[in-house]
Amino acid sequence: MKKAYLSIDIEEWYHLDYLKTYQVNKDEVETIPQIFNFLDMLDKLNIKATFFTLAELAYKHADILREIKDRGHVIGCHGLDHELLYNKTNAEFKEQIVEGKKMLDSVLGEEVVKGYRASCFSMDRKKLDILEECGYSYDSSYISFAKHPLYGSLDLSGYQKIEDLTYQKDNFLEFEIPTYQIGKYNLPISGGGYLRLLPYPLISFLIRKYFKDHNNFILYLHPFELTDINLPFPKEMPVKDKFRASVGRKGNLRKLEKVLLMLLNEGVEFRTFEQELKVRDGNGASFSYGM
Ligand SMILES: [Zn+2]
Repeated sequence: MKKAYLSIDIEEWYHLDYLKTYQVNKDEVETIPQIFNFLDMLDKLNIKATFFTLAELAYKHADILREIKDRGHVIGCHGLDHELLYNKTNAEFKEQIVEGKKMLDSVLGEEVVKGYRASCFSMDRKKLDILEECGYSYDSSYISFAKHPLYGSLDLSGYQKIEDLTYQKDNFLEFEIPTYQIGKYNLPISGGGYLRLLPYPLISFLIRKYFKDHNNFILYLHPFELTDINLPFPKEMPVKDKFRASVGRKGNLRKLEKVLLMLLNEGVEFRTFEQELKVRDGNGASFSYGM
């Protein structure tokens, strides 16, 4: 069986790592309230997704988060703030993942947050162990793409690879963000940036080719990639960064829909990470797809 996990990191456009050094007007434009077209599209396709949410935005967007949950999707934690984990001590990290989960759970009205994704995949092994100790059940911050300056490599010794992109230790699961090796190039074909950059026929070709020798796939996107609302990027931002942040945003939602439809037509089954946990827990019998 071929499976795909659709994940969205709920953060704002100004959380992009290369915007951190600029003064921006954060309240001028918000992309998170624009997410409803995307949610309607998921309803239409009957796809459930995982939304890793920045906890510092939880109270501001409480109604939206509750609606995402009510539509049957899963909310995870994307940290308290968007600072890279390399810049946090283990003690700070621990305090923030506990606090972040508490904030999200309180907004959602029950204890539902079980999963985590580190900002820019900046997870390390010690922090991964802390995450497990603090009661989280899964993480999706591992990417083996050492050439990117932001992405570290995570030591998973003691974990067992149980299937494509999936590693287990005790009852804890780690989901790897897929990259695709073509010649000497390792393409992170699962990210929203590549979806925006590449034309649909090429994206579709690469993903279908990827599935020829893989069983699982993860897509990750951000709210600013799901709307073409104009973003007030600072004037002094280098052209290269402006291009990176804005290329292909127009029409991206439609392109994403085509990709999702293509995957459904190929017989790929969409799951949330939590559904995978339930299967591993032996609760598979009570679990039914698409509900
Ligand atoms: Zn992020």
